[in-house]
Amino acid sequence: MLEIQNLTKRYKKTLAVDQVSFVVPDGQVGILLGPNGAGKSTIIKSIAGLLRYEGGIGIQGMQAKSLEAKKIFGYVPEIPAMFDALTVREHVEYIRRAYSASITDEEVAALFERYELDDKLDKLGNELSKGMMQKVSICCALAIKPKVILFDEPMVGLDPKAIKELKETILELRDSGTTVLVSTHMLEMVKDLWDVMFVMDKGKIIASLTKEEAADRDIEELFFGIT
Ligand code: ATP
Repeated sequence: MLEIQNLTKRYKKTLAVDQVSFVVPDGQVGILLGPNGAGKSTIIKSIAGLLRYEGGIGIQGMQAKSLEAKKIFGYVPEIPAMFDALTVREHVEYIRRAYSASITDEEVAALFERYELDDKLDKLGNELSKGMMQKVSICCALAIKPKVILFDEPMVGLDPKAIKELKETILELRDSGTTVLVSTHMLEMVKDLWDVMFVMDKGKIIASLTKEEAADRDIEELFFGIT
């Protein structure tokens, strides 16, 4: 279980995330839903270990500030962090080495096949479409065999085919037992994806819902009622 306890993040004078707590049970998809500036990316980056924060981030009873926990979160950023001078294959190799990942050559080959990158392995980062860059980011995240995978606004800038594939990926990851956290401002994109949803506004969670508890229209009311 991914457990966030009283997470608070200030950027100088801006209180971006204010005492946020939530839980995503193992093997479920959690959605952070909210308008621009609500604090979603800040939460995702804090969990990914990219920001200093106050509060607790726990995974399976372990605090995420420990070194081991850092290897537990796979992070897929909104804007894929691609190196112009590295090929697709080298991006994944870089992460593999940096994290001393236990993934085998066969498993890497299977990832490339699954994400249809086999024929693009020698292409440079800047030669790819946004959708393909995102697939490389997903392979990099999965190369550390994460227990939790974090997607920050993953649907932005993708065409309908790429969005469909991304949704299939998220559900496939969940079905394989990976816990998934997705940030988005696009409710219509995640209607058929979520197990637990956290509606955010101005740095706070204003509603936490499970799929069983909520009809889509309740969320629309909550989301579009935000002032
Ligand atoms: P978006 O989808 O627009 O990124 P978000 O919900 O992910 O929105 P955040 O990016 O987490 O929101 O931003 C939350 C608040 O923190 C906003 O007021 C934003 O301006 C501010 N903020 C984010 N990053 C920084 C930063 N590096 N320095 C200063 N303020 C920041």
